[in-house]
Amino acid sequence: MEVVSPGFRRAFHSIDDSNRTSTPLAEGAVRHKGKKMKIHEYQAKEILRKYGVVTPRGIPCFSVEEAVKAADELGGSIWVVKAQIHAGGRGKGGGVKLARSKEEVSKIAGEILGMQLITHQTGPEGQKVRRLMIEEGADIKKEYYVAALTDRATQKVAMMASSEGGMDIEEVAHNTPEKIIKVFVDPATGLTDAQGLELAKGIGVPEGSLDKAVDTFKKLYTCYMETDASLAEINPLILEGNGNIKALDAKFNFDPNALFRHPDIVAYRDLDEEDAAEIEASKFDLAYISLDGNIGCLVNGAGLAMATMDTIKLFGAEPANFLDVGGGATTEKVTEAFKIMLKNPAVKGILVNIFGGIMKCDTIANGVVTAAREVKLAVPLVVRMKGTNEDLGKKILADSGLPIISADTMAEAAQKIVSAVA
Ligand code: GDP
Ligand code: MN
Repeated sequence: MEVVSPGFRRAFHSIDDSNRTSTPLAEGAVRHKGKKMKIHEYQAKEILRKYGVVTPRGIPCFSVEEAVKAADELGGSIWVVKAQIHAGGRGKGGGVKLARSKEEVSKIAGEILGMQLITHQTGPEGQKVRRLMIEEGADIKKEYYVAALTDRATQKVAMMASSEGGMDIEEVAHNTPEKIIKVFVDPATGLTDAQGLELAKGIGVPEGSLDKAVDTFKKLYTCYMETDASLAEINPLILEGNGNIKALDAKFNFDPNALFRHPDIVAYRDLDEEDAAEIEASKFDLAYISLDGNIGCLVNGAGLAMATMDTIKLFGAEPANFLDVGGGATTEKVTEAFKIMLKNPAVKGILVNIFGGIMKCDTIANGVVTAAREVKLAVPLVVRMKGTNEDLGKKILADSGLPIISADTMAEAAQKIVSAVA
């Protein structure tokens, strides 16, 4: 039975990366807990260029004036105005447009900047466009797809390529899986010439451009490894009229567990593109993921948090968040956790599920009571606690005079909160 909500799976278990545990980041950076880190296309291309992958020249900008100036600086007579958001599918959504004059650059930049760009990856509300990239036009003869990613099944790095570039690769994988070529890389040798050729020939790169394609694939592999990426994707990789191979779009996801050794990548972080509640939570060292349901969950331990969400779903409701307060939660941390959960207007009830091991139940009970008073809790609250100082914890809750519903088992707790919000 599929009980964990798809939103959570999206957040924690995308096909391309693993991102389970938390890691302290490079100094000065807001901690980026749990989730893979994403960057913008223009940043991805900066990284690719460092590794020698050919890309069009482009300049990031934040205003219409800067966009026109960028076109001026790039020269030529055709430019591409590209919305920079942390989601793909921008082309179809109207976030990638050709301009044939500087007036057009100005007009299109004005239209795209500030728009709520909706793509299949943004969700129905879309993502506000705050940054653009102005790029020189490219002479596209053919669009390909290539990516380096971690393949969980073989526990190896896979290089994947397709003749069907510029399209949604999940669609290609679904409809025409034979058009996707994969090789698995031995870390001792790296991507070999033979493997590179297998990919390049497999996707139909013409004879005269094979060397360039193989060279690009090898550089992409090296870049993927050295940056601790969990996905490095070029879509489309293009063949130009003159036979050159160029990366026209690029996407990277990074393993959060390795970010501590990449301060330059952490510096690419764009908080505007991240969930506000998740950023707030990361400041208090809380592992928090926003979800779509209406029951806020406060749990200690990631496994128990997962099981709690499953139990809520089992009884027919949906969790509003994943939240692991960790083993050493203080009253302050629990209060902040309550505040973050309650900022979500969709939350109609809260379920606290605590196992008192290192953390004692009375500590949590005090935290819950303080937090409930401080935030003037107005939604039903069910608390289930087991373990060290359980009786004392329950007494603190009962003596508080707050309308806290207590429960003994997980099933009872879930049923009580589900019926309280129904
Ligand atoms: P995505 O839709 O978010 O993946 O954005 P892309 O950067 O991949 O752009 C989408 C499509 O726009 C590409 O597949 C190309 O067909 C087209 N495109 C992007 N840049 C250029 C360019 O410089 N010249 C031309 N002619 N088309 C471009
Ligand atoms: Mn693309």
